[in-house]
Amino acid sequence: MTDTNPRPATFVSGRHFLQTPGPTNLPDRVLRAMDNNAINHRGPEFGRLGLAVIGKLRQVFRTAGIIGIFPSSGTGAWEAAMVNTLTTGDRILLTRTGQFAHLWEELAGRHGLEVQTLETDWRRGANPEEIGAALAADRDHLIKAVCVVHSETSTSCMTDVESVRAAIDRARHPALLMVDAISSLACADYRHDQWGVDVTIAGSQKGLMVPPGLAFTAISEKALAAAACNKTHRGYWDWAPLVTSNKTGYFPYTPAVNLFYALNAALDMLLEEGLDNVFARHDRYAEATRRAARAWGLELQCQDPRACAPGVTAIRTPEGHSADRLRTIILEKFNMSLGNGLGRIEDRVFRIGHMGDLGVLQLTGTLSGVEMGLRAAGIPHRSGGVQAAMDFLAGNA
Ligand SMILES: *Cc1c(COP(=O)(O)O)cnc(C)c1O
Repeated sequence: MTDTNPRPATFVSGRHFLQTPGPTNLPDRVLRAMDNNAINHRGPEFGRLGLAVIGKLRQVFRTAGIIGIFPSSGTGAWEAAMVNTLTTGDRILLTRTGQFAHLWEELAGRHGLEVQTLETDWRRGANPEEIGAALAADRDHLIKAVCVVHSETSTSCMTDVESVRAAIDRARHPALLMVDAISSLACADYRHDQWGVDVTIAGSQKGLMVPPGLAFTAISEKALAAAACNKTHRGYWDWAPLVTSNKTGYFPYTPAVNLFYALNAALDMLLEEGLDNVFARHDRYAEATRRAARAWGLELQCQDPRACAPGVTAIRTPEGHSADRLRTIILEKFNMSLGNGLGRIEDRVFRIGHMGDLGVLQLTGTLSGVEMGLRAAGIPHRSGGVQAAMDFLAGNA
């Protein structure tokens, strides 16, 4: 392994700690898998690879249905979902749980969709009751899709997708359910088929431990049928060729071959560890991180204890203390990248990514960096956060 990324302006020895909620750390096994020549994407070897990857992704999405893979960031899969199932003037119901929901709303606006927004204080998940009430009031069924973000990475709050499904069913509303699971897939339990989700979107660079550059989507029969009748022009993002891809393993354009190697290795790692173990590990790290924050006397952005995300924790700095300055100090002094506050909570929170490939010592190292950073930045706090996390992780708390 050559030098990792010495991001600070001045040299700091040792390995960079990439503790952002995406991109996440790449396991050596994934790096090794990519370090191979490209292969003919029309040859027999690629077809086998394509089918293998689709089969393993089905296990992670927990679906027996169609899996789309696009060479794009996660946003591309959002756009694909919109142009395939919706058309200008269609209404969608979206809960603005944070910056990523807000970006989805903006993207929908640019496609000429009418967005009915349910507002939140960015400190909890979407409210299924409110969604149900909005659907019940929509007697003419103008709402074509209900959109929620499963793990709102900007606030570290989860939305209970199963309850959203139940609310849609109670209202007997035909809208499609579309879920952004970009930062929850392979971090939290997710069940595309069982929860009755129509479109699930994910990306490679978060829980899946693959470099940025691939977007995924799981598509229900109902969403495929909606796409078949939808007249919106689309070319590159068209879902129709995916159905063939799922049978053959080939794509209608050059797929990102080396990222497929990475993905195949990462999926093997996840399935070997066992998804339930992967989720339990994320829960444990998230709990340790919250214990550290509480011991520091800092406030979590997520105010609903049942909604805290397993892969990322957003922590508020005390009033008048810049979270961005704290992150800069931590980067310069300790060679660690943390996530920044986005949108309306810019500079008010910093986010510790603890998703993907991470060991206990990397987590306690991360928390040490934060605790030393708090001290160096002169941010009022109590020491002992790392101790609280260690007590928990060692099984003594
Ligand atoms: C990272 C993220 C996105 C953006 O994905 P890109 O790959 O940057 O396009 C969208 N939604 C959520 C919840 C995310 O965490």
